Amino acid sequence: MSEPTKYGPALLLPGEQIRITTNPNTEPFWEAAKEHRLTACQCANCGHFRMPPSAYCPECSSQDVNWPTLPGTGAVFSFVVCNKNPANGEDYVYVPVVVDLDGAPGARLNANVTGCNAEDVQIGMKVTVDWTGIQDGWVLPNFRKA
Ligand SMILES: [Zn+2]
Repeated sequence: MSEPTKYGPALLLPGEQIRITTNPNTEPFWEAAKEHRLTACQCANCGHFRMPPSAYCPECSSQDVNWPTLPGTGAVFSFVVCNKNPANGEDYVYVPVVVDLDGAPGARLNANVTGCNAEDVQIGMKVTVDWTGIQDGWVLPNFRKA
């Protein structure tokens, strides 16, 4: 029998509890997610990545964007361990992370991580994208320990 861990498995928040809103700047990201493609907003003029997406490039003010398909991998830039489900206050261990996205220098994505115990998440840990169905037919990118 294995030793009990401090927090236990890092869980994903239940998809049925998650609802998003989109706008013209963010919708291409969410449409790609429905196809299980991780993407990031990139300026079509200067190549600067910006996440979250915005109408204007902060570097050159262009409104032209590309949505390249990324490898779907990255590294944990920051994280926190949570132990209550925000929807109902019940005990529930999940780990929000900020991920540096491979293939999109400077772009980071907020998500949850799974596939390991919560206490095993570390800054710099390699992760790969994992897809979770949420309300209204949208799909949420999360990450799994690589
Ligand atoms: Zn630009």
